[in-house]
Amino acid sequence: MPLFSELGLAAPILKAVQEAGYETPSPIQAKSIAPLLEGRDLLGQAQTGTGKTAAFALPLLSRINPKAKSPQMLVLAPTRELAIQVEDEFRSMTKGLGMSSAVFIGGTNIRKDISQLRRDQQVIIGTPGRLLDLVDRRILDMKKFNTLVLDEFDRMLDMGFVHDVKRIIAEMKNRNHTMLFSATLDKKQQSLIDNILTDPAIVKVSTGAMTSDHINQEVIRLSPDVNKLNYLIDMLQGEEFEKVLIFDEAKHRVNRLCDKLKKAKFKADCIHGNKTQNARQNALEKFKKGNIQILVATDVAARGIDVSDVTHVINYV
Ligand code: AMP
Repeated sequence: MPLFSELGLAAPILKAVQEAGYETPSPIQAKSIAPLLEGRDLLGQAQTGTGKTAAFALPLLSRINPKAKSPQMLVLAPTRELAIQVEDEFRSMTKGLGMSSAVFIGGTNIRKDISQLRRDQQVIIGTPGRLLDLVDRRILDMKKFNTLVLDEFDRMLDMGFVHDVKRIIAEMKNRNHTMLFSATLDKKQQSLIDNILTDPAIVKVSTGAMTSDHINQEVIRLSPDVNKLNYLIDMLQGEEFEKVLIFDEAKHRVNRLCDKLKKAKFKADCIHGNKTQNARQNALEKFKKGNIQILVATDVAARGIDVSDVTHVINYV
């Protein structure tokens, strides 16, 4: 594996990498940084947890002109949580470098976005719906950006954003550098991807090298006479269940399960699409800090979130 110092990153970005404590590039970083520094388009097949955010953030930030205060790159993410997480990574890599970024997501006050856009931000990260809302209000001009990152593209399509994504791309008349990351690549999407990328470098990494080295998986089958909820509650009493993420299928089921766990005296909260963005962010922060033991979530709301020290992930289906 090469060293970060051998990849051609700009000196201040290299320093930020060291300050973040990243010692060696992950496979997706080792393979993506050089082509992106050259300005090549890229198709990256990688999951969350592989370090893919830094794989595009580091070379793109190395190419940014810090003196030009105008918008330069746009990152599209499918979920609000992911957009915030991507911006956190950008911020930690640009501390003290005089670069600016902003995140625009649904469920928040749009007036705050509008006033933030009065100052030009070099990097804008957002979810498709809110970005188009700002375009329709003629506050955000997609022609200003030349670089586009499509993060978690498969999920973006699963969530029904295909028309929004196509519209954003059509508005970006000066786009000349595009990268697309997806955990899965479906043949049916090939022609769409071919339309978006020009002669891309193709980088594929297997599962999450940063975080998922030591995962044990287990399927628990219950006979019909066993009450699933009671079984779950008994299991969660085990002291090894310190930080538990539980997925359920629908918003109302997530709410119901969370209420039942709270009644059983667990410290729990939930996130799903019907909650306000503030409530979602609050629950996630409490979970990250360890103030609650259990976070119940729909897959859509929680996909791609990066929380360290999760001891158990339960698919409650
Ligand atoms: P991502 O796949 O982008 O969500 O990154 C997963 C986690 O790995 C994040 O918490 C990153 O801050 C962290 N990370 C990214 N690159 C590295 C690296 N080269 N060394 C150590 N940690 C990293």
